[in-house]
Amino acid sequence: MAAIIRLIKRGSSVSYAARSFSSHAPLRKERNVQWVFLGCPGVGKGTYASRLCSLLGVPHIATGDLVRHELSSNGPLASQLSEIVNQGKLVSDEIIISLLSKRLADEEAKGESGFILDGFPRTIKQAEILEGVTDIDLVVNLKLQEEALLAKCLGRRICNQCGGNFNVASINIKGENGLPGMVMAPLLPPAHCMSKLVTRADDTETVVKERLRIYNEKSRPVEEFYRSRGKLLEFDLPGGIPESWPKLLQALNLDDYEEKQSAAA
Ligand code: AMP
Repeated sequence: MAAIIRLIKRGSSVSYAARSFSSHAPLRKERNVQWVFLGCPGVGKGTYASRLCSLLGVPHIATGDLVRHELSSNGPLASQLSEIVNQGKLVSDEIIISLLSKRLADEEAKGESGFILDGFPRTIKQAEILEGVTDIDLVVNLKLQEEALLAKCLGRRICNQCGGNFNVASINIKGENGLPGMVMAPLLPPAHCMSKLVTRADDTETVVKERLRIYNEKSRPVEEFYRSRGKLLEFDLPGGIPESWPKLLQALNLDDYEEKQSAAA
């Protein structure tokens, strides 16, 4: 475990612009952002985290991708992992920390710094380990109604050639019982990806429901962990990417980030 912690710790010695989400202060040249994205399966953590990573120039580290990479490369953990993942269960903290440590070591070797973590931490134990080795600046908690989460998981498609993430679900939830309605257009792939679309093995209705149950049991307490530390930004997605992305940038005080960056260059 000491070696693992040493590896993770290197992720903390980075430098560049971290800005409090609640502050309107100008960008400070300190260190690259170290953010976490929380949220139920299907909420869109990967979509928004990867967009923000491109904007901020930091690596997007999704532990689900690390697990899937280990599975597809038929690594030593593959058979153990496939059983766990295909049942919608969580991989052990030890395995996840070990995969993440390797990823952070690769990041350091490539000279990259900062990160947005997506899908980690998912247990209080993981949050405590992370807190012990580095400072997280901000935790974004993305939220959507459960009905939309299920539809989004079932509609998710991945291009097995370019790795692009798409969604064929057309969501139209009527507002009732005090909950607002929601419309989300499908995110369709370009024509050249159409024949290469695959569905994740864990995106079946039974497994998604189990993943949601496990999120509520094991990962929901992680929200409180960060809320109590004043690091949690709650963000209710108002709809699909066209409605949500500008609002998310606003909530992060990043709506004029690109302009400021080019003005400072
Ligand atoms: P995701 O792509 O984030 O939905 O993750 C896919 C699967 O990988 C999950 O259902 C878990 O089995 C596993 N996984 C990803 N991240 C973690 C984590 N932080 N802790 C435990 N298991 C994880």
